[in-house]
Amino acid sequence: MGNWKMNGRRQEAQSLLSAVVTHAASFSDVDVVVCPPYVYLGLAVERLADCPGIVCGAQDVSAHADGAYTGEVSAAMARDIGCEFAIIGHSERRTLCGETDPVVAEKFARALAADITPVLCVGETAKERDAGRTREVVLRQIDAVYAACGTRAFERAVVAYEPVWAIGTGRAASPDEAQAVHHDIRGAVAQRNPEAAAGLRILYGGSVKAQNARELFACADIDGGLIGGASLVAGDFIGICQAACFKSA
Ligand code: PEP
Repeated sequence: MGNWKMNGRRQEAQSLLSAVVTHAASFSDVDVVVCPPYVYLGLAVERLADCPGIVCGAQDVSAHADGAYTGEVSAAMARDIGCEFAIIGHSERRTLCGETDPVVAEKFARALAADITPVLCVGETAKERDAGRTREVVLRQIDAVYAACGTRAFERAVVAYEPVWAIGTGRAASPDEAQAVHHDIRGAVAQRNPEAAAGLRILYGGSVKAQNARELFACADIDGGLIGGASLVAGDFIGICQAACFKSA
C-alpha cells in the first residue's frame, strides 16, 4: 500500500500511476493500493480502472457524515468516486491534527459504514518504546476501535503497525521487532474474534525499502507493507510490490 502523503502534482501522479500499471504483471498476485492526495484520487481511480489487483485508497476520511464540515471529505464521497480503502489514524494525523483514539475510531466506523475497508494505523513513539510501552499503546489504539465498533470491527479491516520512530527516518524496525508486535496485534484480535484474526492483514510501515521489504514480509504475521517515501519513487515502489510476491505464492 502506497501513501503519497501531500506530495507531487498531477504530472507526477500520472507518471507514478503509469509506471505501476506498466509493471503490474510482475506482481500480479499482490494486492496493491495506491493512496494519492484527495485531489488526484479521481484521476487515479480512472487510470487504474482496467488494472486488476490495483485499487485506490484515501489517506483519511471525515469523522462525520455529510453536512456542514467545510474542507472535510466523507467516507461516502470517497466510496462514491471508487475508493476502496482509507488510511485511518495515521500517526501524522494523530500528532499534527490532534486526532484522538475516539476520533480515529469514529473515522473507522464511518469507513465501514460507507463500504470502505479501513486501514487502521497504530504505533508507539520513540519515548513510549524506550519506556517499554509499545504493546500497551498499540493495544489501546486497537481497543478504542473495538469500543466504538464492537467485536466484528476487524472482520473487514486492515491494521498497519507503524512505529512512529520508524516513519520517514530511514530506520525501520527489525523483522523480529515488528513480528513481535504484529503477533500481539493478531492475538488481541483473536481474543475477541478468532476468525477475524486469522483473516486479518497486518501491514508493517516505517522506512520500508525495496532492500528490506522481503525480510520483513517473510515474517509470519507481516502480511504486507504501508509505504510512504518509497511509494513516490516508481522503481522503489514496484520493487517492494515484487518483493511481496512470494507471500501470495
Ligand atoms: C508512512 O507514511 O506511513 C510511512 C511508513 O512512511 P515511510 O515509508 O516514508 O517511513
